[in-house]
Amino acid sequence: MAHALGGAQASASPSVGTDASPRKTGFKDRNNLRFDNKLWIALSSVNLKSRHSSTKYQFKVMSMSVQQAVRSKIPVQPLELENANEPPLNLYKPKEPYTATIVSVERLVGPKAPGETCHIVIDHGGNVPYWEGQSYGIIPPGENPKKPGSPNNVRLYSIASTRYGDSFDGKTASLCVRRAVYYDPETGKEDPSKNGICSNFLCNSKPGDKIQLTGPSGKIMLLPEDDPNATHIMIATGTGVAPFRGYLRRMFMEAVATYKFGGLAWLFLGVANTDSLLYDEEFSSYRKDYPDNFRYDKALSREQKNKNGGKMYVQDKIEEYSDEIFKLLDGGAHIYFCGLRGMMPGIQDTLKRVAEQRGESWDAKLSQLRKNKQWHVEVY
Ligand code: FAD
Repeated sequence: MAHALGGAQASASPSVGTDASPRKTGFKDRNNLRFDNKLWIALSSVNLKSRHSSTKYQFKVMSMSVQQAVRSKIPVQPLELENANEPPLNLYKPKEPYTATIVSVERLVGPKAPGETCHIVIDHGGNVPYWEGQSYGIIPPGENPKKPGSPNNVRLYSIASTRYGDSFDGKTASLCVRRAVYYDPETGKEDPSKNGICSNFLCNSKPGDKIQLTGPSGKIMLLPEDDPNATHIMIATGTGVAPFRGYLRRMFMEAVATYKFGGLAWLFLGVANTDSLLYDEEFSSYRKDYPDNFRYDKALSREQKNKNGGKMYVQDKIEEYSDEIFKLLDGGAHIYFCGLRGMMPGIQDTLKRVAEQRGESWDAKLSQLRKNKQWHVEVY
């Protein structure tokens, strides 16, 4: 019997010698699945591998009628990573980078996605700690084409994991990298000689390869944790989802005694089509398990139409929910934007139009949001 749990891939086989006697009350076992105050009848052993979490969940599942399974949170270590008052900053600089090792490179998108985006797990051995929302620098091997004789420049990448990494032990960091490909505007053909140096180096790398790391850097996208019941509205296009994956794993996947999230996280993700969605199974499982704390809206520009019949972009989704968003912002919500630089003008125009329709001045509102440190933008 296979259960579709939170959209993750599940396979099950009958387990021998399990206790099949009816049992009451909720239990929470080491196998990452909890059934709250529900009767269960038959027990099967399930081996579930979340597609993009690189983590194998071993747990037990019961034949149930109306029960809903909620995965319990995953223990992380070392908890000393919670102790510092300030985020780590620039522990490694371009002149003396840290040599890290590639653990895995996984294509994240389906065959119909335009372009390729990869999830890259890097082993830093616990030596390059970071906080959610920070970036690493990568120095691709080779000579800087614009400065012969010098190494390549550093490229920044938002970290897509929590400080504990996808292996929950504080030794890895994950990146979400889109391969930069160059198409000749005249012929429309790809010109590999002009493809992006670092993104192609990262997406082509293999487990065991060495890479030069700098950082971590950035404070703008740190997750404010002073109020665990705050609202966080996250607007991402493409790989801009990276820091939000980190936030959401911290909120909904990991067990950290000093950070228990009880607020609202609302993710708007804009990509081209269904095949281009990033970490969709992971996000969908949070929506299933924490419907009161997580909202997830997707804008698929090449598949969906906005209310005027045009392509559906994140700003169209923002407009759809503008009343709620403005109320949440008035109530102190944080709003984050991450992705390609080109996303901002359309979003700003929409917010300005909505504000005017509400009889508010967008310029005044924006400066208030900035002053209150509610407004966080990292575009590239
Ligand atoms: P480069 O070699 O730097 O080339 C840049 C572009 O120029 C490419 O599109 C390339 O095709 C084109 N090009 C090359 N030669 C020519 C030529 N002769 N004529 C015309 N065009 C040419 N990226 C991500 O994928 N994921 C992230 O999470 C991410 N986070 C970031 C966070 C921050 C804070 C910043 C600043 C940037 C982030 N980026 C991210 C972008 C990333 O840093 C790189 O800019 C990106 O990967 C492209 O680098 P590259 O070395 O592959 O391309």
